[in-house]
Amino acid sequence: MGRGRILASQSNWQCMRMDDSPSLLVTNGLVRTLWQDRPIAEAVLMNAGRVAWVGFNRDAPQADVTLDARGQVVLPGLIDAHTHLLWQALDRIHPDFGESAVSGISQLLEKLHAVALERNQDEWILARGLNEHRLREKRLPTREELDSASRGKPVVLKRVCGHAVVANSRALQLLGVEPSSADPPGGIIERHAGRPNGVLREAAAAIALRRIPLPPACEVIESMDAVARDYLACGVTGVTEAAVGFSSTFSDEWSIWETVRKTAGFPLRMAFMFRISPDEARSLELRPTAANLDWQANTLKFFADGTFSNLSAKVLEPYTSMHSCCRGLFIQSTDTLLHYMTTAASDGWGVAVHAIGDEAIDLLATQFKKIRTRYPRVALRVEHLAMPSAEALQLLKEVEASIVPQYAFLHELGDGFVRAIGVDRAEHVYPGRSLHDRSFTVAGSSDAPASSMSPFAGMAAAMDRATSTGRVLNAAERLRGHEALSMYTRGSARILGHEGCRGVLKPGAVADAVIVDADPCSASATALREAQISVTISRGQVAYKRA
Ligand SMILES: [Zn+2]
Repeated sequence: MGRGRILASQSNWQCMRMDDSPSLLVTNGLVRTLWQDRPIAEAVLMNAGRVAWVGFNRDAPQADVTLDARGQVVLPGLIDAHTHLLWQALDRIHPDFGESAVSGISQLLEKLHAVALERNQDEWILARGLNEHRLREKRLPTREELDSASRGKPVVLKRVCGHAVVANSRALQLLGVEPSSADPPGGIIERHAGRPNGVLREAAAAIALRRIPLPPACEVIESMDAVARDYLACGVTGVTEAAVGFSSTFSDEWSIWETVRKTAGFPLRMAFMFRISPDEARSLELRPTAANLDWQANTLKFFADGTFSNLSAKVLEPYTSMHSCCRGLFIQSTDTLLHYMTTAASDGWGVAVHAIGDEAIDLLATQFKKIRTRYPRVALRVEHLAMPSAEALQLLKEVEASIVPQYAFLHELGDGFVRAIGVDRAEHVYPGRSLHDRSFTVAGSSDAPASSMSPFAGMAAAMDRATSTGRVLNAAERLRGHEALSMYTRGSARILGHEGCRGVLKPGAVADAVIVDADPCSASATALREAQISVTISRGQVAYKRA
């Protein structure tokens, strides 16, 4: 089971201890070092977990092991600044109701019925991947439809965005959701003719997800290890878990991560953002860690609003699809968000805030201004920043906020943005050039499973801004390849406080690198989407090699 596999990788890891690990020389590469003094090289020597030397083949020192890059591109190990690794691990355990599994409501119900047959009475059924836009009927299933296929067991279908679920009657009953129930703060209990229809959004969905027990820890950890290895296969050597406490309770999630840390051998460098209030952090006696290349937890994350696809991002003008008067929602009051951020800053945490809609971003920018005045050194980051006004960009630049956008959304969700907010506004979402020209620190990220985990997909989308049906969302906001690459290297390292040590191949930096057949600095976006990783090196050792 999971435990055995982790122990196996642990023993591997122990043979790779830095001090007695063999030195590794990569030769015959087009090495993009991201190091100003020597941006291009042919060879890199790694020793004791660090880059020891960078230069040309003819000058290369001896090493214990030599790896021929065969003319391919060598880049620093890529860093995903915002992802959900535990959520992806759970997705691999929970039944898949996504587009590859079901194409319409009747097929969805057949599948639900089959899953319900296998489950014990009263065992929760949590399924993932639900996306009404990919169903033939273009709508979510109703509570009654789920009732008809669930054999009386509590069912929660999680929408692909993670910000909404559909529950059946038994689940609503166990959650205490009744016709008279008021919406929880920051959440929506959707109704039809005055009766909850099973759709729970934002805080209401989070309440449901926290109620469902996690699978056994060993099973989750085995799945997390598999996700981590898939990251290595994409050239990623470090990630930030963007919201511990988003898929389940904070305590349950963090205790799994603590177990991962104790067993050692986890193949990625990890950073964490906690999705709890600073008051909860105090009561749990959590303190921000110092900067640490392998395990860093020094940021609290708050949500200003929801998402476009869930029609919950807070926008100034109504959504164009369905609910014509709907303008999304704030997850908490302005005062509460300011209190959270102020308390977090005073306790030494970095502050990250999810903000997507223009109204949410305007609010956040003014609040960041207040925080910055009181706490000149606090690290401020905006997650997503889909729809900023020029004024908000100006304010965010003044307070030196870092930005963590997900350009892969343009490709994978862009047509949905057009549906939700109309083409005029969709043209302006996820600006690239506007951030770059204002010299923001911009980190590369996937927000997986909300989009593909591959940084090359993210770079490609930042470069061509094409939706999956080929519509280009504002060519003027495109980035060039080297700028896109810089987000996943220098930008992500800087946002973690690891600049100069990660995201760069120069003597003294960590020995994390990727060998790939496409050069972000010269390849087309299409070629980058198809990039093949040959080798990923982590801590000076080959951590992934393509068969
Ligand atoms: Zn996220």
